[in-house]
Amino acid sequence: MSLSARRWLEKIRSLPLEAPVRIMNVCGGHERSITSAGLRGALPANVELIPGPGCPVCICPEEDVYEAMQLALNEDLTLVAFGDMLRVPVNVPRREPRSLEQAKAAGADIRPIASPTEAVALANDDRSRPVVFFAAGFETTTAPVAAMLREGVPDNLFVLLSGRLTWPAVAMLLDSGEVGFDALVAPGHVSTVMGPEEWQFVPERHAIPAAVAGFSADSLLAAMYSVLRQRQEGKCFLDNCYPQVVRPHGNPTARRWLDDVMEVVDAKWRGIGVIPASGYALREAYRAHDARMQLPSYADDSRKRVGEMPAGCDCARVVLGQIYPDQCRLYGAGCNPRSPVGPCMVSDEGACRIWWSGGVRQNRNVAERSTG
Ligand code: SF4
Repeated sequence: MSLSARRWLEKIRSLPLEAPVRIMNVCGGHERSITSAGLRGALPANVELIPGPGCPVCICPEEDVYEAMQLALNEDLTLVAFGDMLRVPVNVPRREPRSLEQAKAAGADIRPIASPTEAVALANDDRSRPVVFFAAGFETTTAPVAAMLREGVPDNLFVLLSGRLTWPAVAMLLDSGEVGFDALVAPGHVSTVMGPEEWQFVPERHAIPAAVAGFSADSLLAAMYSVLRQRQEGKCFLDNCYPQVVRPHGNPTARRWLDDVMEVVDAKWRGIGVIPASGYALREAYRAHDARMQLPSYADDSRKRVGEMPAGCDCARVVLGQIYPDQCRLYGAGCNPRSPVGPCMVSDEGACRIWWSGGVRQNRNVAERSTG
């Protein structure tokens, strides 16, 4: 831990905290930093850190993954997606491919990519072959997709978009009447693009302290200190603890491109349901590159169910911060990174995967049963 991080930790420990405080983070990158730096164990016992809805792969609707798989299996095309997405399981009979990875093993031309430019390069390599970019992600992923389309792409490149905005999920939690946290650490990278102002509603409408954090332990601890001190002093505002990168109003160019290329629509979150104004769809002007407009539809209405996680999987409750990963019955007991049951164990940004990789191998239910 850096000197600066240790100082922030000392400042937190010196706060006269009486009541327990639950701080939610909204970013898989934050959760990874918190876990790998061991911040949970270092903070005072009455400070609880709750991982929230920060994993885009975890909340990607099952029907979108299914649609991508069916396109790749049934059409003569190449499908590309970010690597994590390839292992996300869907609920189909065991004899059928259950993930893009298994569809690839069954003969579909599916390739992992790391950036939109790889999708463009692949489409340029063979202009006669359709390339479908299954683009699932939050604002930081969706903005480069918008930039790619705005700059112009080959006619044979199509986007199967599953983009989401982060703040509406937090707004939904706060509006639900069952708020499970007392303070918020807001995502740094999303704020870099969209501006920290997007999180202003948290203190203003809900009287909950909030602070934007970067990804180092010291930036996270600075944000935690800020929200704890706000509570201590009875104050409530949005603090930008990542000012080196997060500027007022974010990145105006990226926001303008997003707005030019995509419109905000109501959108489904896997296991959670429809959240108003939480998704992106391509605008009419980009219809020529919209896979849903240009290619055969494999949208399966029967898959559009709310709460369709695999049987026994508690990913939805993990994503909403209602339980910790190791409180899922299947954590380490049937579900692990080698054999993931739910999306939270697949993605590098999924809380279950992060906790497992961070050395949490004991299922809390089993531990409590054996000690109780
Ligand atoms: S441990 Fe596995 S089954 Fe349980 S919530 Fe996490 S990913 Fe889902």
